[in-house]
Amino acid sequence: MKTRKTLLLYSVVVLLLLPIIISVSCRMATQDVHPDEISHESRAEPLPMFARAEYFVITEFGEMNHILQNEGPLGVYIRYPQWGGRTDLYIQRWAYDTFDAAVADFEIALTEDPDARGTLNIQFDSRLVHDRFASIIKRGYFSHTGLAHPMTITETFNIDTVEDRLLANEDILDFGQMDFILELMAEKLTETQPDAEPFLVYLDASWLSYLSLSPNSLVVMLARGEFLPAYIGSVKIELPYVALSTAFLLWDVYTEPPASPPTEAAPATEPPRDTAPPSPSVITPLPVQPQELDPNLPMVALTFDDGPSGYTGKILDLLEQHGGRATFMVLGNLINARQETLTRTIALGSEVIGHSWDHRNLTKLSAAEIRAEISDTSALIASVSGVSWPMFRPPYGAYNDTVKAIAAELGYAIIYWSVDTLDWKNRDPDWVYNAVMNDVADGAIVLMHDIHGTTADAMARVIPRLIEQGYQLVTVSELLYHRHGVLEPGRVYYSGR
Ligand code: ZN
Repeated sequence: MKTRKTLLLYSVVVLLLLPIIISVSCRMATQDVHPDEISHESRAEPLPMFARAEYFVITEFGEMNHILQNEGPLGVYIRYPQWGGRTDLYIQRWAYDTFDAAVADFEIALTEDPDARGTLNIQFDSRLVHDRFASIIKRGYFSHTGLAHPMTITETFNIDTVEDRLLANEDILDFGQMDFILELMAEKLTETQPDAEPFLVYLDASWLSYLSLSPNSLVVMLARGEFLPAYIGSVKIELPYVALSTAFLLWDVYTEPPASPPTEAAPATEPPRDTAPPSPSVITPLPVQPQELDPNLPMVALTFDDGPSGYTGKILDLLEQHGGRATFMVLGNLINARQETLTRTIALGSEVIGHSWDHRNLTKLSAAEIRAEISDTSALIASVSGVSWPMFRPPYGAYNDTVKAIAAELGYAIIYWSVDTLDWKNRDPDWVYNAVMNDVADGAIVLMHDIHGTTADAMARVIPRLIEQGYQLVTVSELLYHRHGVLEPGRVYYSGR
């Protein structure tokens, strides 16, 4: 799972630094000095090569958005594209997380040197390939007077604009053909970068962390100092799709068919899913949620606690069938047994957030235990699914000032609910159906539990009925993003109103 997008793993790390941020960025806007001028004078070593030679913005896809801070000792110039899809959330979140982490780091530098100066500069290159796939490369650097070397920042995002979803690296490459891919990569790397040859012994799947799509080849970015020694600089390797053959998984939407496949390569097959075949008795078309999310139309976030369980798959089937999304609040100690449920949840556009490691009442634990309950669960979600939103739901809905303070410190929002179905007490699908339908309203967060078969059964009626009534079934993060903006760490959210 090392090779999966590092985006949110990274955000889990940076979120540890979150709390200092907002006050700092305000406080810092006091001195009117252009930060670039200062950091150039005092920088210990020249900027990494790309910051000079590859300092560019190509906006073939999306509209440019900014996080700018022109005044004060830390100059910030972050540019990122947004195109109107729900994948925008990932890009925006990454930009703010990177900003927050740099501000927190710079705050520490300021305590050591009140005259510290710094620059955070992140640009992007976005392209639309074959009218369908958007590839975004983010590159930049963070430099301040307390750092011996500027830190380089690299990330890539690949979006399927038709399905409006972020492509995982496993969606692009068949990781089952890793030996073949790495062989090709070694060959291409030594062609363009002979200096890298002695380091090929370290070549493994993690080198495929930053992928981007170009019209005829898959571009692998090796961020400066991350895989190869820093003196080699940042390296781009182009793997022609034709050479990748069946190891490249997006062939069917490209025009050219693969060349002769490598002899040992097994055909890429979809992993079997325990999806029930559609019922033959259904003759009228089922209500299906429109793909586009309209922030002005009613939306509701269905949430399911205490899984993943054997019933989660049934709820996912229904969401897939109708095109809705939901949020699953999982227990850390149940994740390993059902990793595929988690990855499928994410693949369907739903989300997974922590509900503690083992369902203990957080208000009765020590601060260290509370931190572990929240962070360990999120870290495991991120390592299994590649994604972890900075939110959690405390077991029993129990929180106090300590829990809120720790959530703020770790950068997490606390997710409560506005509709409690009491589905754990009333194990009856009709009862659950009525509990949802009687109390649902625009912006509602509905509490349910995917450990009960009766709740999963109820969803067979609840999900299509809500869509029929015009509700968009969204994730908690979508709901809160559209109704409250960027999440506030330590705040308790009850609904999208
Ligand atoms: Zn629970």
